[in-house]
Amino acid sequence: MLGMMMNTPLLVSSILRHAANYHADREVVSQTVEGHIHRYTYADLSKRSQKLANALQKMGLQQGDRVGTLAWNGYRHLELYYGVSGSGLVCHTINPRLFQDQIGYIIEHAGDSVLFADLSFMPILEALAEQLSKLKAVVIMTDEEHMPKSDLLPNLKCYETLIAAESDHFDWPVFDENTASGLCYTSGTTGNPKGVLYSHRSTILHAFALSLPDALCLSASDTITPIVPMFHVNAWGLPYAALMVGAKLVLPGPKLDGASLHTLFENEGVTMTAGVPTVWLGLLDWMQANGKTFSSLQRLVIGGSSAPPVMITRFQKLGVKVRHAWGMTETSPVGLAAALLPQHESLPENEKLKLLAKQGRPLFGVEFRVDGDDGQPIARDGKMFGAMMVRGPWIASAYFNNQDSSAHTKDGWFNTGDVVTIDKDGFIQIVDRTKDVVKSGGEWISSIELENIAQAHPAIKEAAVVAKPDERWGERPVLVVQLQDDATFTKQDMIDLFTEQVSKWSIPDELIVVDELPHTATGKLLKTAIRKLIQEDLDKLATQNKVV
Ligand code: ADP
Repeated sequence: MLGMMMNTPLLVSSILRHAANYHADREVVSQTVEGHIHRYTYADLSKRSQKLANALQKMGLQQGDRVGTLAWNGYRHLELYYGVSGSGLVCHTINPRLFQDQIGYIIEHAGDSVLFADLSFMPILEALAEQLSKLKAVVIMTDEEHMPKSDLLPNLKCYETLIAAESDHFDWPVFDENTASGLCYTSGTTGNPKGVLYSHRSTILHAFALSLPDALCLSASDTITPIVPMFHVNAWGLPYAALMVGAKLVLPGPKLDGASLHTLFENEGVTMTAGVPTVWLGLLDWMQANGKTFSSLQRLVIGGSSAPPVMITRFQKLGVKVRHAWGMTETSPVGLAAALLPQHESLPENEKLKLLAKQGRPLFGVEFRVDGDDGQPIARDGKMFGAMMVRGPWIASAYFNNQDSSAHTKDGWFNTGDVVTIDKDGFIQIVDRTKDVVKSGGEWISSIELENIAQAHPAIKEAAVVAKPDERWGERPVLVVQLQDDATFTKQDMIDLFTEQVSKWSIPDELIVVDELPHTATGKLLKTAIRKLIQEDLDKLATQNKVV
């Protein structure tokens, strides 16, 4: 017997309608690319998204057509999120930090009909001019006053002109909630990027789950700033969740340095923010150097890469609670969040920190399975390593226009490629990416664990651990560091540091100091490039060791 409840589809347009109806005066504040601060309300956002939807319809776009965006976190990008998906088109957010060839590949592979881009991406557009000339339109997200002139792209359209004459009323269509709403490509550190095609249903369920207290704990009393870009897994779902709960939304634009972020947080009374560790490192160091504190910030989410415990402590000292979270492009992204359980409240602070530094416990909606080498679930002892598999309504079931299904198992799970431990309370800790774990004589060494220890040393600005081939052990860890200005750190310092904290066989064999560590387009340490960067040093060390 079927239930007798209304079968209302879960659609992205319903979020906008709710925000406009019940949080009409709540503000959206944007640091614009043009330089000024822009502010308006959810009522304004709703009207302009409808104008945009009318303009898109006039361009002749059909349901399912892809609309590309190359844009920072700002109000026009938000209008595209709602105007495009709301009208049944697919909002394809492109990561401008990818290599130009990859951007070209992605636009082609996605089959984008139209591209909307911020002013700052003119050089990328000009480099891809020939390819872009095949699109229906390339729209620059600015007003007539700031429109650039380009000989290579003579037909650029202006966003404000495009929507100016349109009606601010558009009847959002009602369709199947499984319809595609957004498209986002993984950063593809190996091979070409792969497209993950979100649906209206997955987007809404994920935004619900995200807002819960032990996830990101969002409410109408919050002022939320997603530092994570809207071109990276939909800014972790915050542009949807913020409207769903009716929070004030502050969008930082292109300026993500410590000074700019601190000023924005203080001026706008930001209570909650989210981003990757590299951005937070910049903010913390700038605040320390300038003796600054926070007056409104209460909570901060760290994800995308492992949150070093020392970073959590530094924020705690500034009165900010840190929530560590895990996710992937393929998982919408959030699947794990580290919130303490009642039995943990009485633990000593250092034990609490150990739990808060784990990636966390599964959000309801995503199922996790951790398999050992034998394909059987591993013990929940917080020690054994296993491969993390996930499934659920906001996990990708396949890649867009791509036959590669090697990460999907026959019985319906997605293999995340992450190696993890799970403890008795269900806290999962990422030990490594499968390809980054250091396999030394039958033991697996976690590069993340060693990086976290190194990161806590005052002389070290950023640390990476990579494997080097070793005749006897198969692989051995190497510590690669960028030092703080004027600091020194020797191999003996490294041995002393690790001797106190890890077993002898986990201590890195070599220390290599570099000027800067390379990162991926999504701010993660780029291990392939780091291996290349240090190859010469390793060769030199190998010769020296032979001479000795
Ligand atoms: P990419 O395209 O680079 O894979 P994703 O954002 O999808 O971009 O990357 C997902 C991966 O990032 C995860 O599989 C995991 O290895 C890593 N990751 C995400 N969050 C965390 C975290 N909190 N701690 C450690 N690793 C993380």
